[in-house]
Formats: sequence, structure tokens, C-alpha cells
Amino acid sequence: MNPYAWLEQSLATIHRADWYRSVQSIHGGAGATVVLTRSEVINFASNDYLGLAGDDRLIQAATTAIQNFGTGSTGSRLLSGHRELHGELETAIASLKQTEDALVFSSGYLANLGAITALVGKRDLILSDEYNHSSLKNGAILSGAAVIEYPHCNVAVLKSRLQEVRQSYRRCLIITDSVFSMDGDLCPLPTLLDIAEEFSCMLLVDEAHATGVLGKNGAGCVEHFGCTSQQLIQVGTLSKALGSLGGYVAGSQNLIDFLRNRAATWIYTTALSPGDTAAALEGIKIVKQEPTRRHRLWENINYLQNLIEHLPLKILPSESAIICFQVASAAEALKIGNYLKESGIFAPAIRPPTVPTSRIRISLMATHQPSHIEKLVEVLKDFG
Ligand SMILES: *Cc1c(COP(=O)(O)O)cnc(C)c1O
Repeated sequence: MNPYAWLEQSLATIHRADWYRSVQSIHGGAGATVVLTRSEVINFASNDYLGLAGDDRLIQAATTAIQNFGTGSTGSRLLSGHRELHGELETAIASLKQTEDALVFSSGYLANLGAITALVGKRDLILSDEYNHSSLKNGAILSGAAVIEYPHCNVAVLKSRLQEVRQSYRRCLIITDSVFSMDGDLCPLPTLLDIAEEFSCMLLVDEAHATGVLGKNGAGCVEHFGCTSQQLIQVGTLSKALGSLGGYVAGSQNLIDFLRNRAATWIYTTALSPGDTAAALEGIKIVKQEPTRRHRLWENINYLQNLIEHLPLKILPSESAIICFQVASAAEALKIGNYLKESGIFAPAIRPPTVPTSRIRISLMATHQPSHIEKLVEVLKDFG
């Protein structure tokens, strides 16, 4: 029997459920409008919240770093891959986050895997929000700790589970997205911090969609809730609002020192490339120096929220640049996604297994013009 025959059957099952996915090419530069194969569309599918991925200053910083240091970093950080640029980037992240130190990983996904697997193991417990990002869920599985998923943002259930089982385990780690990536709502951070303290748990928040977007200085959800001084493990990415590639963990000196010694996804992988590192550093500089970008993003968020308030759409509650409306089925989501694309709007259908219920996901950028948002609303109205 052909040991690979199951692949074809499995793919057929994926097709039947309307869960099949494939890539599509974007031509030209990153921006609020992009060119797909057949046409130019307004881009509501990007995580480039501040429009920095196509910014000349980041492009220049990356180009200069490549010219000075080469394309590859040539080794892991602990061997031959570390450069002063990495240290500067880590200092800049720690300064933005107001933490003692930070550690840069090759992606946000690897930052979560590395941090979680280093912090807990077989004798420990993880409590994880059911809507957490894949990198948190897989980090939890990989760690070997006992994992309990609690209903989305349900602090009552979280607390009662801790009352039942906390004493059976050595260390305990609560993990959560800060802005939930497929819904756009926020975790109840102050309450989570109280619960973490009461039950002696560590708390890890993933600020992927909050950094550069939320908080007075763009530091994220932790700053938004005024929790900056609290002991926390903050994870994030350099590849969304910061316009580059890579991830990080920010926190106390002890936490970061420990991760440098124990996080396998940091120790045994090649250091972030000079170009990516320099672009991220420039991105953070701009986040700090140009709050007007963030203000423009929020003007766009508020503008869209006001315009769609009265449309007959099932809008999910959001306090971020991610705005979703629910649709009946995966097939329906695909149909609407295609209709939007044909109408000049790029907003993807998000289907199971990424989310429990299918939806159209819209993400806003600081560089969207009011006319872009008005066009989106017109098309949504027509469809309704
Ligand atoms: C995008 C994302 C990540 C992964 O970050 P990358 O740098 O793209 O690997 C992790 N967590 C959340 C919540 C995300 O949305």
C-alpha cells in the first residue's frame, strides 16, 4: 500500500469542508492599497498597522545594515551571530515596554514556543484562553505541562479551575493574547494580574497586535491598562506594527537571563538577519517619535466603527485595529471574500480551524485614507 495515499484523501476532506487554503501573490510594495494578480485593491488584510513595512526610513536602515554587515547573521547569538545591532534593538524594545531587558527571537511564533517551554515543564500547569494564537497553544503542548483551556476571557472559570487544581502543581503559567488576533477584543489584563497574584502564577501576554497600536506611547495593552510596573512576561512580534520580521520577550533581568540560557528556539537557531534587525530598530524609533501615526490609525478605527454601526452585520466586539463580522458558514465567508475582492476590497475570509466560526476580518492601517474606508462601507452595504 502507498504510505502517502492518505494525503489525497485528507486533501479531499479539506476541500469538502470548504477549508482548503492556498496562497495568492501580492505584487509590488506593501501599503494601504496593493496589486493582486488581476487588479489593485484596498488592503484590509495587512498587519502593517502603522504602514511602516513600506516606509523609506525602514528600507534605508535595512539596506545600510545589509551593506555593512551582509545578508545573513551567519550563526546563533551565543556563537558567532550576535552583533551590536541586536543589543541596540533589545535595549529599544525594553525601553518601549519599560522593562529591565528584552530578548529578540527570529519570529513571534518562536518567541512563544521558546518562552513557554523554558518556563514550565512536566510538573507544572498552564491555563490558556481558548482563543489564544496557535503559537501559544503549541508552546503549551510542547512544554509537557498540564494544559487547561478556559472559556474565552472567562475569569470566573479561570479562578475556579485554579482553586480546584493549583496546589497539585509546582509552577503555574497563565497565557493569553492581549489583543485576540482573530476577534480584536482585549484580554481582561488587570483581573488576570490579580488572579495570577492570588494563585502564585506567572502571566504571559502576547502583545502581537497591540504593540505600536495601544497605549499612550504605543507600548501595547499592558500600557493601555496602566499595568506597566507589574511583573509580567511580555511577548510580541517585530513583524506587525513594527514593519519588519522577528519576535521578542520583554521582562525582568532574571527572566531574560534565564531565557538566554534555556530557550531552545533562541539558542539553537540563527540570529535575526542584520536587515530585519535594523528595520525593526528603525520601526521602534518611529513608534516613539511619531505618535501621530498611531493617532491616525485610531481615527480610522473610530471612523469605520461609526460607519458600520448601523449596518446589518454581526460585528464582533473589538477594541483594536481588527474588526470582524461573523458569517454563517465557511462557504459563505469564501463567497463574501471573493465578492469583496472583485469589488476592490481585500479582506480575507477566516475559517475553521483557525477560528470556531467563520468570519470576514478587516484590519485597519494608519495609512488608509477616509475614501478607502468609505469604499469598504459602500461595498459592505451593497452586499447586505
Ligand atoms: C502573528 C502572531 C504571532 C506570531 O508572530 P510572527 O512574528 O508572525 O511569528 C504570535 N502571536 C500572535 C497573537 C500573533 O497574532
